Amino acid sequence: MAGAYWSIVEDDRQGAPKKVMAEVLGEASRLAGAAGAQAEAVWLTDKATPEGLKQLGEWGAKRVWLFENAAFAPYRAEVWTPVVAELAGKETPQAIFAPVTTRQREFMARLAARLGAGLSADSTVMTAEGGKLVATRPVYAGKLLAKMTWAKTPWMATLRPNVFRPGDGGGAATVEKPAASIPTETMKLVERKQEASTGLPELTEAEIVVSGGRGLKGPENFVILEELAKVMGAAVGASRAAVDAGWRPHRFQIGQTGRTISPKLYLGFGISGAIQHLAGMRTSKVICAINKDPEAPIFKIADYGIVGDLFEVAPLLTKEFKQLLEK
Ligand SMILES: Cc1cc2nc3c(=O)[nH]c(=O)nc-3n(C[C@H](O)[C@H](O)[C@H](O)COP(=O)(O)OP(=O)(O)OC[C@H]3O[C@@H](n4cnc5c(N)ncnc54)[C@H](O)[C@@H]3O)c2cc1C
Repeated sequence: MAGAYWSIVEDDRQGAPKKVMAEVLGEASRLAGAAGAQAEAVWLTDKATPEGLKQLGEWGAKRVWLFENAAFAPYRAEVWTPVVAELAGKETPQAIFAPVTTRQREFMARLAARLGAGLSADSTVMTAEGGKLVATRPVYAGKLLAKMTWAKTPWMATLRPNVFRPGDGGGAATVEKPAASIPTETMKLVERKQEASTGLPELTEAEIVVSGGRGLKGPENFVILEELAKVMGAAVGASRAAVDAGWRPHRFQIGQTGRTISPKLYLGFGISGAIQHLAGMRTSKVICAINKDPEAPIFKIADYGIVGDLFEVAPLLTKEFKQLLEK
């Protein structure tokens, strides 16, 4: 439908949309509803399950544009971009949103370039003002918040996870399967290595993140944080100092050159709070810092601070949370 608010689906590669799509579709539905338009999802996948399609409707999509073909997985921007650009050319959506994930960051930038449209990356607030959409996004490592709007449609934006209200209470979405001319690939997948699962939630989607820095003194000590994370149902992240030391893989790094997170609760252990680290976590709802140095900069932005030795504090917290949560 012309003027619709699209959400590009990020899925779990098993036929279901990721939880973060509830937030993207929730925001798209809210804005579309206020503008008398509808929210629609665009899903490129090699397999879509009926449950996954139902879920998109419940989160607010009135229609799902489903491109289901083996060529769409694994994701390659060169294959996805012309397909979605062609549909956008025909359907003229008012807006196109996607969550901030590794592939959507790349895909949305390419799609914006193809459509000659503007992109607000990593948006944290979206408001309709006088018939225009205005996005707020952190700039200069989160030191400033910039407000921006678009000169032309589609208004394109990636939305930061854990910031927007999830959509619910929607109904069944109609499913359209448009024909797609799939471009010949110029890149070939040579090998795919599946990372071993930690059994903990995904870092950017987790509601609670327990993070460790150089204060942990070695890779073997991350187990202390993993125990706490298991009890709290949290993900474990790290500072760049810990990643550069080879204690954690780069995908766990939080900050300017790592992941951006916005959990309900962030617990930082032995992290000083350098500006580049804050850039990746300062929009967390509640920040708790554990550091033995009372002058550590992280205490300036923390809601709660514990001045103490993390090797004493972390096991105590694990014990207390275990008792509390098991009740
Ligand atoms: C271009 C650029 C990009 C960068 N990108 C990132 C990024 O994405 N993410 C990132 O994190 N950093 C990034 N950095 C690095 C950043 O500037 C800091 O060097 C880094 O964040 C420091 O990590 P840290 O806090 O773990 O270590 P440190 O600054 O060394 O802090 C360790 C803290 O642990 C405390 N401590 C020590 N022992 C204990 C204990 N037993 N109990 C409790 N507390 C203890 C100390 O008091 C100290 O505050 C970037 C830097 C540059 C220049």
